Amino acid sequence: MESSFKSLNMDGHFDFKDIHHAASDFGNRYHFLPVAILYPKTVSDISSTIKHVFNKGSTLDLTIAARGHGHSLQGQAQAHQGIVISMESLRGTKMHVHTGELPYVDVSGGELWINILHETLKHGYAPKSWTDYLHLTVGGTLSNAGISGQAFRHGPQINNVYELEVVTGKGDVVICSEKQNADLFYGVLGGLGQFGIITRAKISVEPAPKKVKWIRVLYSDFHSFTKDQEHLIALEDTFDYIEGFVIINRTGLVNNWRSSFNPKDPLQASLFNSDGRTLYCLEMAKYFNPEETDDVNQKMDNLLSKLYYVQHTLFLSEVSYVDFLDRVHLSEIKLREKGLWDVPHPWLNLLVPRSTIYDFSEEVFGRILTDNSNGPILIYPVNQSRWNAKTSVITPSEDVFYLVAFLSSASPSSTGSDGLEHLLSQNKRILDFCGRAHLGVKQYLPHYGTQEEWQAHFGSKWDVFARRKLTYDPSAILAPGQRIFQKANTQHSRDLRK
Ligand SMILES: Cc1cc2nc3c(=O)[nH]c(=O)nc-3n(C[C@H](O)[C@H](O)[C@H](O)COP(=O)(O)OP(=O)(O)OC[C@H]3O[C@@H](n4cnc5c(N)ncnc54)[C@H](O)[C@@H]3O)c2cc1C
Repeated sequence: MESSFKSLNMDGHFDFKDIHHAASDFGNRYHFLPVAILYPKTVSDISSTIKHVFNKGSTLDLTIAARGHGHSLQGQAQAHQGIVISMESLRGTKMHVHTGELPYVDVSGGELWINILHETLKHGYAPKSWTDYLHLTVGGTLSNAGISGQAFRHGPQINNVYELEVVTGKGDVVICSEKQNADLFYGVLGGLGQFGIITRAKISVEPAPKKVKWIRVLYSDFHSFTKDQEHLIALEDTFDYIEGFVIINRTGLVNNWRSSFNPKDPLQASLFNSDGRTLYCLEMAKYFNPEETDDVNQKMDNLLSKLYYVQHTLFLSEVSYVDFLDRVHLSEIKLREKGLWDVPHPWLNLLVPRSTIYDFSEEVFGRILTDNSNGPILIYPVNQSRWNAKTSVITPSEDVFYLVAFLSSASPSSTGSDGLEHLLSQNKRILDFCGRAHLGVKQYLPHYGTQEEWQAHFGSKWDVFARRKLTYDPSAILAPGQRIFQKANTQHSRDLRK
């Protein structure tokens, strides 16, 4: 097999030896060793490789996974005994910022969002919709959705793309957009890598601000917290970023903010005591340029005056736009220093309809979880109207739904409450409750063990999803790590059948 690939005419190269890192990811729980890694230099390297595997049919027992930055949680970018394509090697292709009526940046599918930020800023622009962490690739987030505190207004990242270049599971290179090959375009967006490999994307940008006012306020009452979040995301003239998180049994947490956030009312804030209550923190940001400071302060005061947070719990910070967007990277650096980044991450991401978020919170924050010392729990609403229903991503069917993300890190050797088993069983209890109580919850970055579960996840959209698979990747070569479809005769499918 090695020689058959070496005979292909390539600009990049295959590595058959140094392959172990492609069998790991951020989740650090699933490890499938490939047979080779392709480091493509050109789109034609990717196309030739896929064509080669496709044309050999079942005689070549191989699947192919695009690997972005490998920040998946359960082996989604891995290919057991297959080929992993290191998409970051395509990054060499230059980024182009196009100004004009509908400005956009044209980037490689393997580009990191942090690099896109820096490049677009040179032209005074930046993408509109982000993820909380920017060391992820375009292809990786567009295969899911790409959600952060801007999504209530701009929709997820998949709603901010004008055009894609995709290599399908037959090796065809196809340009697609709303107007051209729309079925593939919408299929690929949120399509979990099932229909093609994204090699280029044209991403919508807007003029970038220089600075950010970053604000946190606290609630002890879930109703007031969510009511205020929903009020803010419904307004036209509102904050530019709206998120929130839950604080369960963490007395010192607010004190830890003191290094970066200033209480508006230091004396009163120092007297604030959570008394062991669960707290909810509404996090907001307003973008501005220095010359607009007075105006932006006035707008913010006006917005804040209509909120029902606990008195004297307003915390403020002012940072550059880059520091705000790249904020999680600072935590990464600190965690790496302590050896706490490369640990198992049994994360659970859910999309919860507005009508059931209260029941969800009562059970999950009130009964299942006793604290959140293993990692943050994010919770914030978005507007369904900003999500294009034609894409492949699955959301609850209500006008407003919440992203709830349990971002735990496990202590690798522990069998206690910070151990992997405990955290996984907590996730299972949450999922079981959502199912039992019929809350209409959908998984984000979904992960299932059987095709029946995948069908239930996709619901009425399953037929379209399965039809697209047959059209664009009929041999089920691509993204085997998602475990939705199986190539009939791979080692992996044989192992699974045993
Ligand atoms: C610290 C951290 C913070 C995060 N924060 C957020 C957040 O705020 N919002 C959010 O939405 N997500 C967030 N995520 C999740 C993240 O968006 C996904 O895990 C994403 O898949 C990671 O991107 P990646 O480039 O590492 O992709 P990978 O893990 O490498 O790949 C993910 C999937 O996409 C496929 N794929 C990769 N590249 C391509 C391509 N070019 N074409 C087609 N398919 C491809 C892979 O085969 C795989 O199935 C976060 C993850 C981490 C680790």
